[in-house]
Amino acid sequence: MEEYKIYALKYAGPLSSSGALMMWLKEWEETVERNYYIWCLKGEGEPVVVDAGVSPELAKERNLAGYVSPAEMLSRIGIKADEVRHVILTHIHWDHADGVTLFPNATIYIQKEEYRFWVKDPLSKRAPLQFFVVDSYLEYLASLEGTDRLVLLKGDREILPGIECLLAPGHDVALQAVAVNTAKGKAILGSDCAHTFRNYQEDWPSTFIFDLPGWMRTYDKLREAASSPELLFPGHDPMMTTQYEQVAEDVTLLV
Ligand SMILES: [Zn+2]
Repeated sequence: MEEYKIYALKYAGPLSSSGALMMWLKEWEETVERNYYIWCLKGEGEPVVVDAGVSPELAKERNLAGYVSPAEMLSRIGIKADEVRHVILTHIHWDHADGVTLFPNATIYIQKEEYRFWVKDPLSKRAPLQFFVVDSYLEYLASLEGTDRLVLLKGDREILPGIECLLAPGHDVALQAVAVNTAKGKAILGSDCAHTFRNYQEDWPSTFIFDLPGWMRTYDKLREAASSPELLFPGHDPMMTTQYEQVAEDVTLLV
């Protein structure tokens, strides 16, 4: 079976906030830092990019601290964004999906229900939900509907040998985690199913909750799917930059 190495590429951060952002309703007085990432899977064949980060335009508009374009980050490990053929979007919140336009030749994989909610459901246009998205990339994704550049997945599905998308709701309507075959077994990129490793360790989610019971079921599912607890990775933990082998500036080899 095809095996992959998994790289974490920090494209922004650190940003700081109350601890309550990372640990729901706890630790209001603490200050915690978070980083922003995309990930890259490298095996025998073409690289697969997990999440697209943020475009230079939006990063500038939001004054995103420590920002480096995801395209520049990928170039540090020898990958040209405009030649990437496969991009998995774990979910289509702005910090994971806005940079999708940096990948003009990629097929984009999203859960169908995630796409339907954010692109088509009028409920998603209400103010608290608009916090999570930006119209420009939603319109771009909508322009791809019906072409072979947009693949809408219904639940768990292996999209390439050794790479399976796993439906993992809770933080978002239909987030998908990515199960990856590695030399150490099955690793799970859980994205924002947990913002930090502590969320998994302490069985306590972050503040951005769409569905709390669903979230707890997702924790069970992802723990079950990972070959070991160390192979279950969160979405924003600075430790993904500091605690793993650095292969280029702000690029680490997770497994
Ligand atoms: Zn996020």
